[in-house]
Amino acid sequence: MNSTTPHRPGRSAAFRLTVLACVLLPLCFAGWLGWQAVAGGGSEHPPALPAALPPAVTPTLGPLDPDTPSATPSTPGASATAPDQHQQPLSGRTILLDPGHNTANGRHSAEINRQVDIGNGHKECDTTGTETDAGYTEAEYTLDVVHRARAILQGLGAKVVLTQDGDRPWGPCVDERARIGNEAHADAAVSVHGDGAPASGSGFHVIMPARVTAGKADTSAIVAPSRRLGLLLRQDFKAATGEPYADYIAEQGLDTRSDLGGLNLSTVPKVFIECGNMRNSGDAKRMTDPQWRQRAAQGIADALTAYLTTTGTPVAG
Ligand code: ZN
Repeated sequence: MNSTTPHRPGRSAAFRLTVLACVLLPLCFAGWLGWQAVAGGGSEHPPALPAALPPAVTPTLGPLDPDTPSATPSTPGASATAPDQHQQPLSGRTILLDPGHNTANGRHSAEINRQVDIGNGHKECDTTGTETDAGYTEAEYTLDVVHRARAILQGLGAKVVLTQDGDRPWGPCVDERARIGNEAHADAAVSVHGDGAPASGSGFHVIMPARVTAGKADTSAIVAPSRRLGLLLRQDFKAATGEPYADYIAEQGLDTRSDLGGLNLSTVPKVFIECGNMRNSGDAKRMTDPQWRQRAAQGIADALTAYLTTTGTPVAG
């Protein structure tokens, strides 16, 4: 409400009534309405307030750690009651986030070891994933980072679809993970992982789809847009986390693979990110830190936002 409504001399009775009402802050708005009614709408000042206050609009946010104060970019001075393209740049867009693995996969060996068709071969339905030496699992990590990224992206207006939300006994299988993004007609998809490389290696890397046309796999339409998404993700994840490029991957922070069902079977632009090496003590320490995971989620969300709102492609290197 506005407690400094412009007033003019010559309407003293109504004005004094209004001022009196405004002394009691909870009644201020009612007083203002009364003043407007008495003024008869003949003011040269158009009404500054709506006849009825709309309900407050707040972005839908998922759970956030109390130590991660700002997950949603703020827009200073913008009205919370009038979302516009600037505040909701991802309105109307659909994003698939795929938390790699499942915390319960280890108890469902038969199900996840089943072979599924990935177009150019067969692969296990899913795997248990890796974990840190201290037992923090990749599946816990990926779901937490995805929750954080989802909160940021929903705050920007996106519809976010998850392949699993800790709500399935195991999996889903890699072919279903791809299918969920396809059937959602996602504008972009990111599969979040932590690597289980030899302990001496560290750093993050992004995995992009190779061109695969075999069986039910055909990535020819997504190779180019996925590469643009991958380059943005490499850039923005590094900027958000400070994590160096993996020192055990040939191309700086980038890999291209033809053996991942989640990529082979995708018909929407999609990349994987291996956020760090959970077997490396330095990476493990960072990935176990909730504040670092918030930065990781921010980097992922930044890349997806850039991908969906710009046309430029960072220079590969
Ligand atoms: Zn993984």
